Amino acid sequence: MFSLDSLSFSHRFLALPKSFYTQVEPTPLDNPRWVAWNQDLAAELRLPNEVDEEHALLDVLSGSLSNEQIKPLAMKYAGHQFGIYNPDLGDGRGLLLGELTAKSGQTFDLHLKGAGKTPYSRMGDGRAVLRSTIREYLCSEAMKGLGVPTTRALAMMVSDTPVYREKVEQGALLLRVAETHIRFGHFEHFFYSGQHEQLRVLADKVIAWHMPQCLTADKPYVALFAEVVRLTAEMIAHWQAKGFAHGVMNTDNMSILGQTFDYGPFGFMDDYEPGYVCNHSDYQGRYAFDNQPSIAMWNLAALAHALSPLIDREDLDNGLETFTPLLQTEYSRQMREKFGLLTKQNEDEKFFIRCFAFMKSEKVDYTRFFRSLSNIDSNGITPVVDLFIDRAKAQSWVESYMLRCRLENDSETERCRKMRLVNPKYILRNYLAQQAIELAESGDFSLVHRLANVLKAPYEEQPDAEELAKLPPEWGKRMVITCSS
Ligand code: AMP
Ligand code: MG
Repeated sequence: MFSLDSLSFSHRFLALPKSFYTQVEPTPLDNPRWVAWNQDLAAELRLPNEVDEEHALLDVLSGSLSNEQIKPLAMKYAGHQFGIYNPDLGDGRGLLLGELTAKSGQTFDLHLKGAGKTPYSRMGDGRAVLRSTIREYLCSEAMKGLGVPTTRALAMMVSDTPVYREKVEQGALLLRVAETHIRFGHFEHFFYSGQHEQLRVLADKVIAWHMPQCLTADKPYVALFAEVVRLTAEMIAHWQAKGFAHGVMNTDNMSILGQTFDYGPFGFMDDYEPGYVCNHSDYQGRYAFDNQPSIAMWNLAALAHALSPLIDREDLDNGLETFTPLLQTEYSRQMREKFGLLTKQNEDEKFFIRCFAFMKSEKVDYTRFFRSLSNIDSNGITPVVDLFIDRAKAQSWVESYMLRCRLENDSETERCRKMRLVNPKYILRNYLAQQAIELAESGDFSLVHRLANVLKAPYEEQPDAEELAKLPPEWGKRMVITCSS
């Protein structure tokens, strides 16, 4: 039997100076109930496998009942939103409940999103609606399944509290789990407000908690920045290779550990469209899919500026200069794996350029293209040709691809097997999330659960989930999502 007494939260963020946060009690929601409980993650965190409505955990984790283990706080941060500095940010609707140590020995933050107003709520109501909660729950777990660095989702709750957006919606809660909730914007806050001693405290804590290897470096802060650049480059390489657009890459949504963070109007590309913009409010296309690498660089430069009291200009410049090569190396490694082309050949650059131009002009489905290419029948025929309207053109491209494949060391079967390990069959397409949300809003969470389950293993064939791997219907393509969440 699980007992609340067995919970063992720590509160290391609470030990920081008061300027880092405000302690705030959650504002309870009316009649909260579980709608999703992530059993795999719960097991890692030594939490019970099953939870029910009577379970004392519901009262405590939904913020309805205080418990000595939970010491909620709202973090203070700032950030550049669409390129403009905003000093007034912070946890406006989420609270850090405490930290749990997992079986692995690693410590994770438990953060309740939608818990009510805080001193940083500005004009907001401190709430999260069901639709955005479902999107974050499903996408963070889908990214985990894909192997992309990400925050996680432990649970989702819904309530009878009305939340007013364009229409009346149901208030919901998300329990987010992350190695850290420290953002680029935390550093910017202490820099721009002139609290440079606190900036040092923050850098020291990030090193002590998350990057102890930097302690033994000649210049620990330089090593810290180098690590943030490296982790960010890896994350962006994953996004670009998987066809993921984040949608709101403001510096307050950038985790200091390079983990995909704050899921809002994100989208996976359907048709290959490099300029894909998934955020309805992004009129200039600042956060378009193919802009993400340069925006990440912009954000790292903003972080570098905030770190300037701790690190020499030259060291910061050197750190920034490593970003593009690191990103290119990792992106090119991932793309080679996707194509099954592991050896390097002279004509490869030209081959890739031609291929992307072809995919773009033919508007082929990005995910299906690579998955189809990973399947070849006994006659050497790949279903990829079926994705193109101009079959003759496609056939001629496939022939050039097959010629190139002959230069590989693996057999065809082995190459395809390896390709299926990196080319997902299942992704969280926006239209699927939309269908799951519409059902959930009428009380039926079956598709939410089904998607959560299927997306855990996106690279595996799951014969009873074929319809979730289909091409999107015309109405479901290029969906843009609003920020009002
Ligand atoms: P986001 O767009 O979710 O990254 O949020 C940007 C800022 O607005 C953060 O400081 C959030 O905490 C705050 N915020 C977003 N939605 C709300 C809300 N409904 N109530 C209060 N603050 C919010
Ligand atoms: Mg945010």
